[in-house]
Amino acid sequence: MSTISGQTKLVAVLGNPVRHSISPVIHNAAFSEMNLDWSYLAIPCKPEDLKEVTNALLKMECVGLNITIPHKREAIMLCEKVTSTAQQIGAVNTLVANRKGAWNGSNTDIDGFIAPLKDRDWKKKKVIILGCGGSARAVLIGAKLLDFEQFVIVSRNKYKVKEFIKEMEPKLMLNRNQSIEIIGLSEEDEEIEQHIKNADLIVNTTPVGMFQNTKSSQKMPLGPKIWNNLKESTTLYDLIYTPKPTDWLRNGAKKNCKTIDGLEMLIEQGAASLKLWSGIEKIPTEVMRQAALKYLNK
Ligand code: NAP
Repeated sequence: MSTISGQTKLVAVLGNPVRHSISPVIHNAAFSEMNLDWSYLAIPCKPEDLKEVTNALLKMECVGLNITIPHKREAIMLCEKVTSTAQQIGAVNTLVANRKGAWNGSNTDIDGFIAPLKDRDWKKKKVIILGCGGSARAVLIGAKLLDFEQFVIVSRNKYKVKEFIKEMEPKLMLNRNQSIEIIGLSEEDEEIEQHIKNADLIVNTTPVGMFQNTKSSQKMPLGPKIWNNLKESTTLYDLIYTPKPTDWLRNGAKKNCKTIDGLEMLIEQGAASLKLWSGIEKIPTEVMRQAALKYLNK
């Protein structure tokens, strides 16, 4: 919408940090194309303020929210209803205001994650997932849907990775016809090197390498040296989309690995969120993609 009027409704993304987000760019482009009198903002929100901010937004008749780092797990507690996929993942990235003045929670990260991987057969392949937060859960369930057979989860915190495996393993084992192996490692484990040599796909779900991630001075997950073990048949997928590419993907491309950045996931999960907020099936994804590319190439 070119004019914000008294009728304009609010949609927003809540996160910390959130100023790097290009969700406002892609959603506002889509709203304009769809003639929706809505406006999308990025709102910084500290973990201790999440409940207060989401309640206030409901009272302001906000249509819906995206939830990003670090709130995806906690936000599930704030929902009146949660979809079975979001429950399985244990995290929400989309809230829709319902008629009773409460939030319904969903997770569209799986749709987004899978979209750029669909052109290849991943049956019986090996995936390494770096990080075990909200999006790692969606990545794990998404990789299971793609028929991966071995899942290696690497975290900086050995207790969190243990808890992650304990919670997620039963969800992976649901289909007993499929043989599945899930391994949890801490960043110091020497075994990681061998897994990197054998991996078909490595996914970075940590914010390491993200623009303006002021909490970390690290530029590459696990540091640069370990990536000398990469082989060129391995695909690297970084959920980060700014900078585009990250140092990790640039390094992988130098070693002739196929690289995927977080933009396609962002567009596809955003389109799925917009379907939920609007009830409209046909979402202008190409308009969203072009708006993002124009903004990133500025
Ligand atoms: P999250 O729930 O906070 O999880 C982040 C994970 O990374 C946690 O396991 C965390 O470990 C770990 N981590 C954080 N800082 C680290 C560091 N310096 N070194 C090693 N590990 C570190 O966040 P999230 O929602 O999953 O998001 C993660 C990233 O994915 C963000 O960059 C986000 O922008 C991106 N993302 C992109 C898309 C997309 O559409 N492209 C979608 C979702 C997410 P601790 O638990 O120990 O803190």
